[in-house]
Amino acid sequence: MPSDGAATGRPPLRYASEMKVDVAIVGAGLTGLSLAIALCRAGRRVAVVDARAGRPDERGAGYDARIYAIGPPAVAWLTDLKVWQGVDTGRTVRVEEMRIHGDAPRAGDGPLELSAYRAGIAELCTIAEESEIGRALERAAQHTGGLDLLRPARCVSLAHDEHQARLTLGDGREVCAQLIVGCDGANSWTRDAAGIGTRGEGYGQTAVVANLACRAPHRNRATQWFGIEEDGASSVLAWLPLPGDRVSIVWSVADALAARLLAMPEDEFVARLRVAGNHLLGDMRLEGPRLGFALRRQVAASFVAGRVAIAGDAAHQVHPLAGQGLNLGLGDVRSLAAGLDGTLDCGERRRLRAWERERKAALSEMVGVTHGLQRLFSQPHPAVRALRNLGLQAAARLPLIPSFLVSGATRA
Ligand SMILES: Cc1cc2nc3c(=O)[nH]c(=O)nc-3n(C[C@H](O)[C@H](O)[C@H](O)COP(=O)(O)OP(=O)(O)OC[C@H]3O[C@@H](n4cnc5c(N)ncnc54)[C@H](O)[C@@H]3O)c2cc1C
Repeated sequence: MPSDGAATGRPPLRYASEMKVDVAIVGAGLTGLSLAIALCRAGRRVAVVDARAGRPDERGAGYDARIYAIGPPAVAWLTDLKVWQGVDTGRTVRVEEMRIHGDAPRAGDGPLELSAYRAGIAELCTIAEESEIGRALERAAQHTGGLDLLRPARCVSLAHDEHQARLTLGDGREVCAQLIVGCDGANSWTRDAAGIGTRGEGYGQTAVVANLACRAPHRNRATQWFGIEEDGASSVLAWLPLPGDRVSIVWSVADALAARLLAMPEDEFVARLRVAGNHLLGDMRLEGPRLGFALRRQVAASFVAGRVAIAGDAAHQVHPLAGQGLNLGLGDVRSLAAGLDGTLDCGERRRLRAWERERKAALSEMVGVTHGLQRLFSQPHPAVRALRNLGLQAAARLPLIPSFLVSGATRA
């Protein structure tokens, strides 16, 4: 409730529960928390609001079904923030090689191969559990000075003018900041409240994810197949190496087929998966649940509106075939934190616009590749099918193309 300064003779406080910070972040997911830690390390005062309570520090049984391929720049940044040190490296795998198969290989044609060794880097990416990175971020956040975590809390309104921005929470608290950053995911409340529109469409696909124990070793290699399923629709299947002889799969298929894959008995699911993956790793056994994620391509019309910025999935959602969504989001917040270094006013328009231009360029490169590949491999016409596979085979034989793809995969 507002306090009445005239009645008390004290300087008026607009609201008894007003909090003043440099930056207010909506969303304590992986992008939101890492931005908060980076800004606080640079001496900023930050409040993070999330609709959910913080995650428990205990690990669940087995491996998390949400697995991410994290590129070297993101790992390096999280290491600088002293966050990656909290991730148990015994539960991560460094991917040294990647093989990409087209959907109509001719005898003698090999897959497109990407190799960390040939590219002169230590690894193409690191495979890690979402919950493991999340817990490391939570622990780092608890030990970061100048950071207030407000959760669970509901955001009810957002206002901003040329001097400040203000967030009102469901319990009446107000957070007054120079800048509000929405890291609140694909259905971003912040984006809507700031009046930022989006462009995009559903892919008509669902990603089925699951973890499996395998008979044969994966040798730190990730494998991906572009395929055509029995319903005539395209699919993309990725096998990502987990510690021990295990893989995490991301199988992007038409929604109706995904519903069947999620509901069918385990042994039938595993048998289909083995066929789709050319029996590469021998017998397989499901470990843990199968989960489905509806896939959408979505890009916000703008990443900045006055004293509001949006980052991560709030700004862009890409197809998981390149494993780049979170990498792009971490790239957004790494660059935002660096751009605000040394500014007196975090909402300075010129700096925010420069940040937006840089991130839109990074995004358009990534969206172009992932959306283009997804579209190319979803054309059922036999001529297109032959051409795209020829293209993949040609790319596999050119020494420069695989290393270009590697540098793309490691840049976000
Ligand atoms: C199947 C699949 C596989 C993927 N694999 C990879 C991969 O290998 N590599 C990769 O880089 N990316 C991958 N991605 C993409 C990745 O999952 C996302 O890009 C990433 O999770 C986005 O993180 P975020 O922090 O922006 O949003 P989110 O993870 O959605 O976090 C949003 C946060 O905001 C909070 N929130 C939401 N609404 C509100 C509100 N109104 N008020 C307050 N708080 C709110 C939520 O509680 C949450 O904490 C994959 C995606 C899918 C679907």
